[in-house]
Amino acid sequence: MNFPCTSCGACCRHLPAASPLNVGDGICRHLDPHDQRCAVYEQRPLICRVDELYRERLSTRLSARVYYLVQAQGCVTLDASNADVPAEVMRRLAQDEGGPAPLPLSDQELEEGLVAVMTEAAPLIASMLDGGGPATP
Ligand code: SF4
Ligand code: SF4
Repeated sequence: MNFPCTSCGACCRHLPAASPLNVGDGICRHLDPHDQRCAVYEQRPLICRVDELYRERLSTRLSARVYYLVQAQGCVTLDASNADVPAEVMRRLAQDEGGPAPLPLSDQELEEGLVAVMTEAAPLIASMLDGGGPATP
């Protein structure tokens, strides 16, 4: 599964206050203001890598369906232009698994998935404070 990121950059403009990449208004210090692209894309931290974060940290706790639909919902919440992302996730999941389109998330699945993702995000953010993030350009 490859997450169908639209490269809108919205997640890079809404960082948590605790993130060391946040320059103070939620915007990442590595976001290029001219093209809204990541200036350290190849070196971006794990928390910015949707597919790797799942494989390395969350695949034993969440199904691909719950994880990717939680991420997709986050994209829609941050930027309404991402309204098609959840449907594209479901299309790709069905393609990967060779079955029918998966069911949408229930409210309980969304909540539990969010908690799991946030639980993994907190120590990753803390590790960046200790120097685990990308070098500042
Ligand atoms: S908000 Fe979602 S679609 Fe936009 S750049 Fe971030 S991951 Fe990609
Ligand atoms: S490091 Fe790159 S991908 Fe991660 S939040 Fe900053 S600009 Fe976005």
